[in-house]
Amino acid sequence: GDINGNLVPERKENGGVRADGDKVDLAEQSLLNKLIRRSLVRNRNQVEVLQRDPTSPLYSVKTFEELRLKPELLKGVYNMGFNRPSRIQENALPMMLAQPPQNLIAQSQSGTGKTAAFSLAMLSHVNPENEWTQCLCIAPTYELALQIGQVIEQMGKFYPDVKLAYAIRGNRLGRGVKLQEQIVIGTPGTVLDWCTKYKLIDPKKITMFVLDEADVMIATQGHRDQSIRIHRQLTKNCQMLLFSATFEDSVWRFAEQVVPEPNIIRLKREEETLDTIKQFYVFCREKEDKFTALCNLYGSLTIAQAMIFCQTRKMASWLASSLTVEGHQVALLSGEMTVEQRASVIERFRNGKEKVLVTTNVCSRGIDVEQVSLVVNFDLPVDFDGNADNETYLHRIGRTGRFGRRGFAVNMVDSKHSMDVINQIEMHFNRRITKLDTTNLEEIE
Ligand code: ADP
Repeated sequence: GDINGNLVPERKENGGVRADGDKVDLAEQSLLNKLIRRSLVRNRNQVEVLQRDPTSPLYSVKTFEELRLKPELLKGVYNMGFNRPSRIQENALPMMLAQPPQNLIAQSQSGTGKTAAFSLAMLSHVNPENEWTQCLCIAPTYELALQIGQVIEQMGKFYPDVKLAYAIRGNRLGRGVKLQEQIVIGTPGTVLDWCTKYKLIDPKKITMFVLDEADVMIATQGHRDQSIRIHRQLTKNCQMLLFSATFEDSVWRFAEQVVPEPNIIRLKREEETLDTIKQFYVFCREKEDKFTALCNLYGSLTIAQAMIFCQTRKMASWLASSLTVEGHQVALLSGEMTVEQRASVIERFRNGKEKVLVTTNVCSRGIDVEQVSLVVNFDLPVDFDGNADNETYLHRIGRTGRFGRRGFAVNMVDSKHSMDVINQIEMHFNRRITKLDTTNLEEIE
């Protein structure tokens, strides 16, 4: 089995703080997604294309050859193991490479090939003989900018004439000299400084502007305004490309400001469903009781891997060490870990090094692990007011069609209030959650 690491982003404006007290950092979640991803996220939905000029023919490509790329670039693409364009690339690539240039707003969940698409577009766009910056790409954080840069460097491996510079904090250059790198990627603050204060880049010579992770960008203080100020320096002839994983109204309003007369490409994420999940609840008195129930459950089932959700870091670490004492090999994901540490925990779990993953909600929303057949809500997902958090419940245990195999979800109920929460969840999804007796587990298998 394989994991298709794709965190369901928590897209509340300005990040938001969850009931478990961990601040949700959109940029961190996005970086974690990138670090744990190995391949394209499959998505069987139709791509929606809205053309600026509906009368012009709609080009889509099924092969990279059709794009008539420079041989150096085609070689780079194949060298990355890409055989054919992804769903959104089929439409986005011909649009981005078209002459005369066209603007594009593209939205699809992370892992569907956006970064690879605009990286290829930038590499294909520049003229390596011109030793000035022609493509400008901005991303919400230093780490995300580096991730994009790595893709460009890998893809451009056989095209060494094209050079790349990082406009990120700490990267200081002399005032007034002009950069010779054709592609600059960076964060909005530093890019703005390089364009205006230090004049390392002449914004009038930029002919392709890429704004990645627009939803994360506008959730970060100051980035929205800096992006707009960069945008204002550019000329009318500059091709504008904007990418986002989600598209609520605020992103849309921002996109319209930055991308005039856009073509629009959207790929809706595959809906998660509870149809292939058997849902249960177990009555327990307190956490020790829950722990016993969990051990009974785990001991009597033939389970590939299990994920256990706790509400707080404290509970998660207590549970992880209690399970370890019982002889289980346990992985723990916790809010105080760095993104890199979390990525490596997920990687180990994905490779089956541990069979149990204990986590708080924040660090692991929507990690789809194909071989996870048991999800335990050690604490039920609730919002600030203590009501059922249906969305989080669905993200924890729901599966998309591609993971059609059956799974179990077991909810630990420890009070009248949490029984109410179970009832709310039942009503919301209109699916039965059956009482389970962990001392008699015949009904479950
Ligand atoms: P996004 O920017 O939408 O999150 P990425 O461009 O990072 O998506 O692509 C997600 C993963 O899929 C990466 O590991 C990338 O290398 C891979 N990928 C991208 N395009 C293709 C393709 N056409 N064929 C195979 N793998 C691809």
